Amino acid sequence: MSAPISLITGANKGIGFETARQLGQLGHTVLLGARDAARGEAAAATLRNEGINAHFIALDVNDEASIQAAAHAVESQFGHVDALINNAGVNYEAFGTPAASPSRQTLQKTLDTNLFGLIAVTEAFLPLVKKSAAGRIVNLSSVLGSLTLHADPKSDIYNFKAPAYDISKAAVNMYTTHLAWELRKTPIKVNAAHPGWVKTDMGGEEAPMELVDGAKTSVHLATLPADGPTGGFFHLSDPLPW
Ligand code: NDP
Repeated sequence: MSAPISLITGANKGIGFETARQLGQLGHTVLLGARDAARGEAAAATLRNEGINAHFIALDVNDEASIQAAAHAVESQFGHVDALINNAGVNYEAFGTPAASPSRQTLQKTLDTNLFGLIAVTEAFLPLVKKSAAGRIVNLSSVLGSLTLHADPKSDIYNFKAPAYDISKAAVNMYTTHLAWELRKTPIKVNAAHPGWVKTDMGGEEAPMELVDGAKTSVHLATLPADGPTGGFFHLSDPLPW
């Protein structure tokens, strides 16, 4: 049997890079999506030096032409995609921002990448995922996208607000449920992931979780067995409230 093919967006650093490494260690051919060619090539070369079958794919999730070119390149070189990991994400707010309402500009920029970019990539690559015998789609969300936890004064999340980011991830969760429903009669499983609060450029130095653990939820959901869940929201294998 040929190696599974996994495409990870925003894979030049952080959780995306570590996800590519761990899937590569499991024997996947990993396609590292990155918007900057030099950083993407360097990341893929690092993994190749570790013995992983890694390839850089130019992919800016905010650029429709780049997305289409990436889908054509992957189709012609690899034919299909077994796991699509929508990992690329941005946050322009300090966590704990007191204002309940983000500026229009911050909201626009955040949604452009975290929501519209994620949906555009999924639409472009879905035909390739449908060619897999066991397609998996993983959408990187966050507990900060949980409506239940934000509304619960007993939750740690209650006072931990980044409004534009939180709105973007809540919308990713909703998209996940809808795509899973649309694909419910196919073998494809679609789930949302909370990686944990992870030490990365986004998560910051004070985050309690190391990168090696921060990639585990994405890897778990990208490699779910045929009887695994779809349309859920998970940290590791634990379900989270929407
Ligand atoms: P980083 O900031 O370390 O990495 C983000 C990655 O996304 C980078 O590779 C970045 O590329 C890429 N990216 C951003 N915009 C685009 C774009 N337009 N096109 C392509 N790639 C893009 O973040 P993390 O690794 O921490 O986060 C990964 C995911 O996990 C995100 O979706 C985040 O929201 C989510 N998450 C992270 C948590 C944490 O604690 N770290 C907690 C909960 C969720 P570039 O280097 O070019 O900027």
